Amino acid sequence: DKMVYYFGKTKTEGKKATKAVLGGKGKNLAEMTSIGLPVPPGFTITTEVCDAYYKAGKKLPNGLMDDVHKAVELLEKELKKSFGDDSNPLLVSVRSGAAVSMPGMMNTILNLGLNDVATEGLAKATKNERFAYDAYRRLINMYGDVVMGIEHEAFEEAFTKIKKKYKVTEDTEVPAEGLKELCDAYKAVYKKGCGEEFPQDPITQLQLAIEAVFGSWNADRAISYRRIEAAKGNTEIANLIGTAVNVQAMVYGNMGDDSGTGVGFTRDPNTGQNKFYGEFLVNAQGEDVVAGIRTPQPVSEMGKWDRKAHKELMEIKKTLEDHYTDMQDIEFTIEKGKLFMLQTRTGKRNGIAAVKIACDMVKEGLIDEKEAVRRVPASDLTHCLLPSFKPTARNAADVLCRGLNASPGAAVGKLAFTAEEARSRFEAGENVILVRRETSPEDVEGMSAAVGILTSTGGATSHAAVVARGWGKCCVAGAGDIHINEKAKKITVNGRTLTDKDTISLDGATGEVMAGEVETQEPKLAGDFAKLMTWADKYRTLNIRTNADSPADSKRARDFGAEGIGLCRTEHMFFEADRIIHMRAMILAETEDDRRAALKKLLPFQRKDFEGIFKAMKGLPVTVRLLDPPLHEFLPHDNSAQKEMASELGVKPAEIKKRAEALHESNPMLGHRGCRLSVTYPEILEMQVQAIVEAAINSAKKKIDAHPEIMIPLVGTSAELRILREKVEETIEATKAAKKFDGKLDIKIGTMIEIPRAALTADEVAEYADFFSFGTNDLTQMTFGYSRDDVGGFLPEYIENKILQIDPFQSIDQTGVGQLVSMGVEKGRSIKKNLKVGICGEHGGDPQSVRFCHEVGLDYVSCSPFRVPIARLAAAQAAL
Ligand code: ADP
Ligand code: MG
Ligand code: MG
Repeated sequence: DKMVYYFGKTKTEGKKATKAVLGGKGKNLAEMTSIGLPVPPGFTITTEVCDAYYKAGKKLPNGLMDDVHKAVELLEKELKKSFGDDSNPLLVSVRSGAAVSMPGMMNTILNLGLNDVATEGLAKATKNERFAYDAYRRLINMYGDVVMGIEHEAFEEAFTKIKKKYKVTEDTEVPAEGLKELCDAYKAVYKKGCGEEFPQDPITQLQLAIEAVFGSWNADRAISYRRIEAAKGNTEIANLIGTAVNVQAMVYGNMGDDSGTGVGFTRDPNTGQNKFYGEFLVNAQGEDVVAGIRTPQPVSEMGKWDRKAHKELMEIKKTLEDHYTDMQDIEFTIEKGKLFMLQTRTGKRNGIAAVKIACDMVKEGLIDEKEAVRRVPASDLTHCLLPSFKPTARNAADVLCRGLNASPGAAVGKLAFTAEEARSRFEAGENVILVRRETSPEDVEGMSAAVGILTSTGGATSHAAVVARGWGKCCVAGAGDIHINEKAKKITVNGRTLTDKDTISLDGATGEVMAGEVETQEPKLAGDFAKLMTWADKYRTLNIRTNADSPADSKRARDFGAEGIGLCRTEHMFFEADRIIHMRAMILAETEDDRRAALKKLLPFQRKDFEGIFKAMKGLPVTVRLLDPPLHEFLPHDNSAQKEMASELGVKPAEIKKRAEALHESNPMLGHRGCRLSVTYPEILEMQVQAIVEAAINSAKKKIDAHPEIMIPLVGTSAELRILREKVEETIEATKAAKKFDGKLDIKIGTMIEIPRAALTADEVAEYADFFSFGTNDLTQMTFGYSRDDVGGFLPEYIENKILQIDPFQSIDQTGVGQLVSMGVEKGRSIKKNLKVGICGEHGGDPQSVRFCHEVGLDYVSCSPFRVPIARLAAAQAAL
């Protein structure tokens, strides 16, 4: 296979190659070159070479360096410069770039090709000795750090010495003479650090740099980043084979006050506003902007500095958006007034911006409705559903200071000072806000654990901001009034001191940092969000229901667009203080009569709950699951609680202990629960069905259109369903008769398919079912044989070692559990052509699982209220 692809005026070879081969950066450098944008020429070494490098035990493949040589020669010819030249040397950058971007996770080396001779040459060619030695010292430092792993500290110390000698404080104030001395000092640091001289041969530098970039693919932080992304469901990143290497001619943003470097987005990635959003630094190179060392200026100010370059940048914004028909994230450099493009990629944005940009681009005619629907990542809609602070609470809030609104949301938590601390306190169940001067790629684990991120330096494109936005996590960056004392675990801000015990509230929308806990509120769902949802509804064929067991949840889900309840768990209705006592009395009862007496007291509670739910869901189906958990879950287990219960019920504590012990099971998940309870205690089923029917009758009398669906859980054999269906039907009739109701009630009777045997015999089960609902939580648990409540002990390692690609409790295991689902659907419908089938596990709100459900022909998915919009969009994406 071709290992090296050239891009430049001479030729652009990567036009047809894919991102998978060239990496995102390489692909887009080729593409920008081919549409005529000003890109410094260079060449890309493919990701396949990286793969080969690792497969060969970290050895570059044969012939690669020959190809590199040829590409360098071409570059020299095109630019009329040559490597190591004493009058006009060629300098290159060596840049990483995988098919999926991993911001700042891998290494880049700038100014490669400089040596003692070439530095003189660069000084001559640019008539700027200071610049040449500045570039050389940067190379020795970066190369020493990245290629040889020499501590940055050692270089820093040498620099401090020189600054002292010349009595200056800023790097930029050191004269050419001093930088020359610094280069000698750096060479000494280099030699001391790795035992070798700094290599003078540019090709040697290049080869080692290429290997170092490949090496950075498997640096801890890069692996960490991929793992976190993969765990978030980014399957693309889990399947990458490696990074490409881009070798590109240098342009210099650090040649003086007419030069500079910058980064930006063609639209605002926080709000989606169609306005260039970026920052630039005058007289700076490379990472200076992102590193947060000096504070950059916003690009909106750039025209004042260089009108022509600013105008050109705005034209490029349009060219890029027209070409890519999407918002771009770009890097650029201005060398003596001339603008160069160094990178473009699809810009990361939060869900709010994604929705606005998609809707705006439809208006602008760049994309159509369907593309808009496809383009917004369904799970990012959570950002639109994000809480914000209550205006009244906000107005009253004690504002400590203000930083940059780097990533929206409202975060409330206690201060944590290091990534490790954030992680461990998160694991202990605390909400923490990670507060750092600035974050670096080493901090990603802690950032992921924190509810919000606060930094005291760095801009809107700093590491913290970029990563937080990608994750939809609230972030306030560059809050300069905050002084952090990491060791003492405290911050001081405007004369006040806060410690790791203090709570703060971050407003990612305004950048405000507030003391204490500020009350939050739910988001509004109008405007572009509503428009996108309408488009999604137009294209989807799956129905979306919700899992809800209270009128309030039902109403919220309905506002989010739910078309019914797919799972109403009734056990929650037993737990409130005034109810649990009757439940417990029922459990303790020795005879059926006593049980019935206790159940009778529970009936009015349940009936009232159902009436509320039917009202909230009027006109829509409500699937009610009969009691599911084992009875022992309703009994207290420690002594004092048992005593309390005994006095409430007027029995001896020993009696309760005895009953609890009798109900104890070694494997409750596989025990006496679900429909097995209804078989042994039919009076529980009777009470629940009676409550449902009476609620339906009362609703009918109030002209509320109720559509209950009675769902029998945990069926494993058709006989269970046959017997229980009969019981339900008898109870419906008996209740109607007792209430003297002769109107029509629309009540369906169906079952959950959550035991593998039920799926395997779905044709038999279907005879007695009006509908199926796949309970994919239990089905996953029983298919894998993993106890859902105990997977924590091994699942993370299973995923890390790729024994499992994904957490099967989050995203449906399509090859295993999915087979049972599709078989169940097929067998069920072979008996009843129009059998209604849905799922009601956690998977109903997972976009990939929703796609699967669409593909196997389910009628609906049911998910938690907050995931309803996600499921609507995912269903549309599956249908398009
Ligand atoms: P990352 O993937 O971490 O963003 P890059 O490869 O984009 O790393 O390099 C980081 C920065 O280095 C770029 O944003 C750019 O400012 C600078 N840089 C890279 N290559 C060149 C070059 N050929 N000329 C000038 N600056 C460069
Ligand atoms: Mg970059
Ligand atoms: Mg279940």
